[in-house]
Amino acid sequence: MQKTGRITVRGIVQGVGFRPFVYAQACKRGIAGTVKNLGSEVEIFARGEQFEAFLAAVSRGPPLSRIDSVTVTDTQKEIPEGFFILQSGTGSLTGMIPPDIAICDDCVSDIFENGGRYQDYWATSCVNCGPRYSIINEIPYDRERTSMEEFPPCPACVQEYEDPGCRRHHAQTIACSTCGPDLTLSDNQGNKVEGLDPIREAASLLDAGRILAIRGMGGFHLACIEESADELKHRLGRIEQPFAIMVRPGHIDRLACISEQERTFLESPVHPIVILKKRDPTAHAVISNLHTIGCMLPYNGLHHLLFHYLKHPLLIMTSANMPGYPMITGIDQAMSKLNRDVDFFLTHNRTIVNRCDDSVIRDGFIIRLSRGIAPMRSAIDLGKRCILGVGPELNANSTMYKNGFAITSPHVGNVRNPATLEYLQETVRNQQRLLGAKFDVIAHDLHPQFLSTRFAREIASDHGLELVPVQHHRAHIAATTTRPCIGIAIDGLGYGDDGTVWGGEIFSGQAPDLRRVAHLEPVPMAGGDIATRFPERMLYGIFPDKKILSLLGARGWTDVELGVLKKQVARNFNVTTTTSTGRVLDAAAALLGICRERTYDGEPAMKLESAGAGGHPETWDLTFATLNGCEVLSSRSLIQTAFEKMQAAQGEDARMINTIASSFQYNLARGIAQLALQAADREEIKTIALSGGVAYNHAIRETIRREIAKQNKECIINDQYPLGDGCVSFGQCVYAGKLLE
Ligand SMILES: [Zn+2]
Ligand SMILES: [Zn+2]
Repeated sequence: MQKTGRITVRGIVQGVGFRPFVYAQACKRGIAGTVKNLGSEVEIFARGEQFEAFLAAVSRGPPLSRIDSVTVTDTQKEIPEGFFILQSGTGSLTGMIPPDIAICDDCVSDIFENGGRYQDYWATSCVNCGPRYSIINEIPYDRERTSMEEFPPCPACVQEYEDPGCRRHHAQTIACSTCGPDLTLSDNQGNKVEGLDPIREAASLLDAGRILAIRGMGGFHLACIEESADELKHRLGRIEQPFAIMVRPGHIDRLACISEQERTFLESPVHPIVILKKRDPTAHAVISNLHTIGCMLPYNGLHHLLFHYLKHPLLIMTSANMPGYPMITGIDQAMSKLNRDVDFFLTHNRTIVNRCDDSVIRDGFIIRLSRGIAPMRSAIDLGKRCILGVGPELNANSTMYKNGFAITSPHVGNVRNPATLEYLQETVRNQQRLLGAKFDVIAHDLHPQFLSTRFAREIASDHGLELVPVQHHRAHIAATTTRPCIGIAIDGLGYGDDGTVWGGEIFSGQAPDLRRVAHLEPVPMAGGDIATRFPERMLYGIFPDKKILSLLGARGWTDVELGVLKKQVARNFNVTTTTSTGRVLDAAAALLGICRERTYDGEPAMKLESAGAGGHPETWDLTFATLNGCEVLSSRSLIQTAFEKMQAAQGEDARMINTIASSFQYNLARGIAQLALQAADREEIKTIALSGGVAYNHAIRETIRREIAKQNKECIINDQYPLGDGCVSFGQCVYAGKLLE
């Protein structure tokens, strides 16, 4: 029997080949009707014998779609013979455009097909792959609302676009070498390098050791071979910080040990940078002086072609920006900012509408939420009001909540400078436009001086909106779970309720009612922020002992410097107090002489982890105390034990450093787990949530998890959002939503 109905599919249904998919399913099952894109929903009118089977197929959707709901209603509408894709209309905007998607295998084959239409074409894509977020101006997602609008398709592309049997049927990014965006190779003065093929030329320049700026999907990369990495480091003044690399598929197993899960991530439509364990911890030290190395596979046609011509097996591929500043996207800006750092530019002429960095994943946890993942959308009920979370200061992004969905932007950076603040503001405007959102509530960090806090206040006062300040670590826990829990937030720095710097906190309750019940010992940061850069100041602050002064003296501190440091700590002058876990790890790294000056975010703790990766931990005594009703773990006793072990092992080989580093992390983690488990027993709570940047540390996270499991408690870690500050804007939204419920 024939059945007729109107089917509405809501969710991520744009830019994922939904309409061609529906068309193909209809043809397969003899269904007559129409399909139309309405922003965040697709409307289908259908009639046929196999209506139910068609409905079932449509409800599953194509691989890249995310379907929230499918509704079927009766219709009196006249349905034509045959099946048609109609012009897009506008509808409600609760869905979202998908992120950029790595090139699919079919398109890679097209590029290398001899005599094929897409042979050697760098921007080959189809309904299953290619740029989305980075090119979109407005939704519905159609070519005229993207930066592909400047490239009208040639007759051959039009034919494929209109051919229901083709993989590029209704592919908005369809383009070929005749009609699509093209590439230019120029020197660092902007002079075009003449030659037959810019990619082939670029590959031979790279092989010869030259440094190139390459314009990609979401911004510029700086690229060079391993042999030129040292030169690049010196040009950028980034001597210590590891670079990410892009590796020829097939070569990656020679560099790193890869688990099945890691391989799945590497090859997924996201194609993120995955932090892998090196096969030989000391190899490729010029790329990374840690035991890990950040690798990704080629993720667009340009990359595949580059590796086709390149003789070397890997390229340094680092985002072209100053640390914490937004990635450079425009050609003119790249030419003026990078001309001293690079020798050549390989650029394309497609506008990058929305900037997007590479995503970074480690052990299955997101470090940087960006290309391929963001805009990140998750279903959560936070009430009727529309909420904006503007994030913290470091590793910021923004999250918007509307009608049952939270949508988080790609990584923005460190909102410490006007350029990044401007990028945050632009990101919020884009989100607002793409979602048609009108905020009622702005959630922000408790820190009164953050630029993001000032931004929140400005929007609120301009539009008369409600402001909700959210303590940094409570946002971490709210981003992890909304269930009653004991929350562990182990982190760098966050402004606390009492105006001191928090970062090793245990909470009890349920967002937004999270009570601080335990923490690390408050210790002085001698000289304030400068103690973050010079971790030996943390070391002396935590363990103000004569022996530490002589250790620092032996390392070259002058008597005058030591005198000032001693006075600062003794008189509590120019000192802030912190419970930060990151700063305690910094102090341990300083004690062991692993890192005496921090040149990038997290450096001392990362180097401590690398040193510890080669050692076997010993169990040390832990010291606890009670302070103002909170349980406190003594950081000083841990540092003191490490110091004594170091003295006792004087003259032994480097393995001693590995053992102490590994033991320090192990015992700190054990102590933090004990604080949480004691609280869980007291409060009779079975669930423990874990978040914060320190939770990326494999040894610390796994120790905490094991200790919790031993006591038959559940440990929750949210692997959909970063553990570091990239989850804070989402957590702010959750907190505010629950508060105002
Ligand atoms: Zn494709
Ligand atoms: Zn074409």
